[in-house]
Amino acid sequence: PDNGNVRVVVRVRGFLPREIEKGARNIITMNPDTQETTLHPPKHSNGSKKAYEKKNFTFDRSFWSCDPRDPHYASQEDVYDSLGSEFLDHNFDGYHTCIFAYGQTGSGKSYTMMGTPHQMGLIPKTCKDLFERIERNKDPNVTFYVRVSYFEVYNEHVRDLLVPRRGEVYYLKVRESPSEGPYVKDLTEVPVRDIKEVIRLMRLGDKNRTVASTNMNDTSSRSHAVFTLVLKQIYHDMSTDETTERLARIRLVDLAGSERANSTGATGARLREGSNINKSLTTLGRVIAALADNSSGSRQSRKRELIPYRDSILTWLLKDSLGGNSKTAMIACISPTDYEETLSTLRYADQAKRIRTKATVNQDHIS
Ligand code: ADP
Ligand code: MG
Repeated sequence: PDNGNVRVVVRVRGFLPREIEKGARNIITMNPDTQETTLHPPKHSNGSKKAYEKKNFTFDRSFWSCDPRDPHYASQEDVYDSLGSEFLDHNFDGYHTCIFAYGQTGSGKSYTMMGTPHQMGLIPKTCKDLFERIERNKDPNVTFYVRVSYFEVYNEHVRDLLVPRRGEVYYLKVRESPSEGPYVKDLTEVPVRDIKEVIRLMRLGDKNRTVASTNMNDTSSRSHAVFTLVLKQIYHDMSTDETTERLARIRLVDLAGSERANSTGATGARLREGSNINKSLTTLGRVIAALADNSSGSRQSRKRELIPYRDSILTWLLKDSLGGNSKTAMIACISPTDYEETLSTLRYADQAKRIRTKATVNQDHIS
């Protein structure tokens, strides 16, 4: 197996109109040579007594998406070219992959994963590249099969995003099989043959994603959306008449806003929702911390910690992606103006760097 570290990158978005109106200042710098990200103390801390310090972090990549006029500006293409494209190479080699976006609401997670029709994010770009590669293939001995599924974890419930929403909402159950690991029972999986079909399903799922108004005014800040492509390649060797199958799962995850792990000022039903989402996110934090601990330190001197995957739906379903058979990347999305939330995101990301997964090529002789 390939014992690689989780790839961790950070991306800072540009200013939003309301931030410009308020005269907000940029407190992030990134060094393009060292990939170092620095968080600076805010100039106007509103009389707060909190001690703000300058903090440095180094990640695999620092994407500066703050100002399009800057020569180091990282566009959607740049993010795809430096991460998405390589991960798709791994999928064609037969590895499972997972890329997840972490960060507070409004930090650019959905922009990075989904993007807009004109500024496509990682998900549509991966789909497009996938089918372009399949079309370019000249080897008559290979056949490709692609399936897509899309679900969300909302309030510790799993909802299929590829079934139309009408009347009562059905929740799906999570099961675990010895060979496949945890999976969503009865989840819709649609075979797709071209980019048009997959984009249509992606849009449908996006439309079905839970919409709940919150004081953070975001439609999707409370749900974790998991978009999955499965790529199956069947090779038939004419000379030996042998058939082998390669299977790769491509998982792309847009997490709920990380401020959910803190307090949201919500009450009643909203509070229950908040605390449940809190459960998946806080468990994710504990899982990452435990995995990071297990990776560092010598095995003889330390007892390996039990990883609490099953304490939340999200971590249970992402078990393989976080600590098992997968090549995994985390994109930490940050706002250019929010010291405390950004510090907490960067610390989280820093810890994720220590995690190692054990990816293996998923290949079988079938005849
Ligand atoms: P999140 O999903 O983390 O809540 P969004 O992706 O919805 O955040 O981003 C919040 C706002 O910022 C959106 O209006 C989005 O279009 C904009 N935005 C985020 N990242 C970028 C970027 N890199 N470049 C341009 N606009 C961005
Ligand atoms: Mg979002």
